[in-house]
Parts: sequence; C-alpha cells; structure tokens
Amino acid sequence: MTVRVRYAPSPTGHQHIGGARTALYDLIFAKSLGGTFVLRVEDTDQERSKREYEDSLLEDFKWLGIEFDEGPHKPGQHGPYRQSERLELYKELAWKLVEEGKAYPCFLTSEELEKLTADAEAEKKAPHTYHGKYRDLDPAEAKAKVDAGDEYVIRFKNPQKEVSFTDMVRGEVKFFPDMVGDFVVLRANGYPVYNFCCVVDDWKMEITHAFRSEEHLNNSLRQLLLYEAFEAKPPVFAHLSMLVGEDRKKLSKRHGATSVRQYKDQHYLPAALLNYLCLLGWSHPEETDIFDVFELEKSFDSTRFNKSPALYDIQKLKFFNEQHLRALPEDKLLEHALEALPAESKFRAQDSDWQNKCLGVFKEKIQLITELDEMTSVLFSEGTSDSDEYKEAMGWETTPQIKDYLKGELESFDGDFVSEEKVGEWMTYLKKELKIKGKPLFMGARACLTGQVHGPDLKGIVALTPKKILLSRF
Ligand code: GLU
Repeated sequence: MTVRVRYAPSPTGHQHIGGARTALYDLIFAKSLGGTFVLRVEDTDQERSKREYEDSLLEDFKWLGIEFDEGPHKPGQHGPYRQSERLELYKELAWKLVEEGKAYPCFLTSEELEKLTADAEAEKKAPHTYHGKYRDLDPAEAKAKVDAGDEYVIRFKNPQKEVSFTDMVRGEVKFFPDMVGDFVVLRANGYPVYNFCCVVDDWKMEITHAFRSEEHLNNSLRQLLLYEAFEAKPPVFAHLSMLVGEDRKKLSKRHGATSVRQYKDQHYLPAALLNYLCLLGWSHPEETDIFDVFELEKSFDSTRFNKSPALYDIQKLKFFNEQHLRALPEDKLLEHALEALPAESKFRAQDSDWQNKCLGVFKEKIQLITELDEMTSVLFSEGTSDSDEYKEAMGWETTPQIKDYLKGELESFDGDFVSEEKVGEWMTYLKKELKIKGKPLFMGARACLTGQVHGPDLKGIVALTPKKILLSRF
C-alpha cells in the first residue's frame, strides 16, 4: 500500500500552531513509510477563506521546513487541490447518492426548520428527529420540484446504525445509532459541507491516513457513514490530543501567541518550535526531549501518541529554543542573529570576528536570539550600576588598588579591544602581586571594568567592550 497523508487546512487565518503540529506528524509519518504528503486547501467557506491566507500558510510552512509533495502549488495526479475548484465533483457525487436512494433533496424552508426544532425541543426529542420530512418523497416528484427551481439542500439518508472504527490515537471508538439525523451534504447554494467534501477528497485523493485534531472525532461518524454509502474504504484516522492552556481550556489567543507567524516574527528557531510541538501528544521512544524532528522521517513510532490533552507552555518552548540555540553551529548562529537583530543594534555594527566572540560569550545566557540586543547594548553603555551591591563592592578596601592598576593598564594599552588573555594577565597580577583574592578580586574587578557586579564571563565581556567605554566607567 502506498501511504498518502494529507494536511487539510481551511485558509481563514494565519497558520495555527495546532495545525502545524498536525502537518508535522503528517509529514514524518508519511516519510517514515516512504509515502506522499499532500496539501489540500479546504476553502469552501466563501466568506472566510482567503487566498492570502493560503499564501501565508505556505510561507509559514516554508519557514518551518515542512514541504508538501502535492498541493495547489505542486500539481500531482490527484488535483485540483483546492476544494473551491472541485465543486462539480461534489455536486455530481451528491446526486449519485440521490439516484441510489442514499440521499434526497429536502425542501424545508428556514421557518419550517426553526419550527421543527422548537417542537422537537418542546417534546424533549433530539433536534434532528424531524429531518425525515422529505426523506420518502417520490423521487420523480422531488426531481420536478428541483427542476421548477424550488430551493433545496441534499440530505444524507442516515441508516441509523452503530458505527465503530479503530483510531490510531484513541483505539476503539464507537458511535451509537441516532446520534445524528439526516445531515446536509450539499447546501442550497450548491456548496458542500465539510464532512461531505472531506470524504470525497480523501477517497478520490487516495488518502490512507488522516491526522486531525480531537475536535473532529464526532465528524468521523458522518464521514464513515458516507464512506459506506460510497462503498469506499475510509482512511485510518488519528485524532490528536487537544492543545490546552494553563487553565486546561482549549488553547486560544488568551493564552498567548497561537500562530506560527507570531513565533516567526519573534525569531524563535523553527527547529525548536517543531521539536516542542512534536512532543505535545507524542513521546520519543528513547524518552529524549531535544532532537531534530526531521530525523523521525527515518523511523517514526506511531504507537507513541497520547490522547490526553497536551499543555502548551510558552516557558517550556523558550527552554527548547535555548537548547537549539546552543546546538547551532557558529555560522548558523551568526546568520540567525543577523536576521533577527534590528538594524540599529550595536551587535550589527561590529565585525564578524567580534560578533562570533560575542555569540560565544552570550549564547548560554539567552533563550531567544533577540535578547542579545539588550545584552550587547550593555557592553557599550558608559554608565555604572546604582545598585547597593555595586556601591558596596566599590567601597571595599581593596577596590581602589584594583581600580588604579586596571585604569593604568587600560590607559597604556594600544588598541580598541583588549584580548581575553590580557584580562587574564591582569587578574593574575592582582592575585599574585597585590594579593587580592576571592570575591574582592572577582567582584571588585568586575565592578571596576563593567560598572556591574553580575554578568557573564568577565574576560569574555571585557574583550568585547571598546577600551574607551571601559575607561568611561572608572
Ligand atoms: N479543514 C479542516 C480543519 O481545518 C480539516 C479537518 C480534517 O483534517 O479532516 O479543521
């Protein structure tokens, strides 16, 4: 069997991180089995679907490094890949069901529908029980009404039976009869409903596995009934765990950034975002946390999905970003910094030798590359701290000696930047010759040279600071 997996977004907004997680599983699952990854654009909601969102999601996937084998921008054997370009097919297949007696045109007006709903409610019946009204209308009579221009929808003639399937994440799922009525497949405007076109497309596009969020679990009932009516084989479903915020409610804008675009704009590393998303609802067989998700294309253990809701925690994502930053090779880290830091950043004004040294000193101190901007601007700041700790260090008995010595060394130094070795020599002199040790030495020298009492490795930051700035702090 050739594995074909699809990602089926509705282009009604920027790509949500939940969808990015689905697409990631689609990709690694398909690739691990030598399969094909298809993008199908579900744009039948005429009001909310926009081509610019389709373009934006393609851009976001490009940034993430997720590539499709087939889709609107990469035509294959199973196109077109936009549902808005497949309307004739849906219509044809809806009428095929009518002809086979498995669906029927329904002429209920919205007023009639409202009344039937109210009546059903009053009788404490399920609201869908009324839908049978045109179910048994003579097909010739129904056809005549359609030809006469009466407004209609096409409803599926629900056989009301128990339906069950094996979900890749949830195991056995069972639906009892009478959970839904004769649902609409084609609307009055000729547009299909999601459940109908999803079935037609998964079937016609020969999709073998469908990953989607848990919210769609109930849709499987309608979809499986339709597969049966078409005598087609359904794909294997995988209903992924829901993403929730700290309050255990479905992840939404209230919880923070939810679109891939926002993380791109904040200069997260795509590899870190994907790594974090991958672990929301799935766990690595070796129980490792930090890894390259694309490595999973070689072998992906699809038994490790977890159905309980996955907590989306931005702090944890930052930790993942930090780990991926540290693992970047020097040239990639520099490229990332230059892309992210603003034009006026002090970092950008220096040569690449300085920039690489700077990244070496700070990369273990940051979670996001943009934090580097403030850190490097401190290197160029002439002021000193006004904290009590700084004042205390400057007041220690040994500090004036340190200060005099370092000032003299700096004044006689020829050049813009001292080397780390030079700073090392100064520290050795202070220790060996002036016999200053421990905190008075390290904190005292730091306070004199940097104007602060805390910070990263002293030699590293002094070597990154122009001599005239260092002197301004004395
Ligand atoms: N367009 C649907 C969505 O974005 C697709 C659901 C599915 O994968 O079947 O939720």
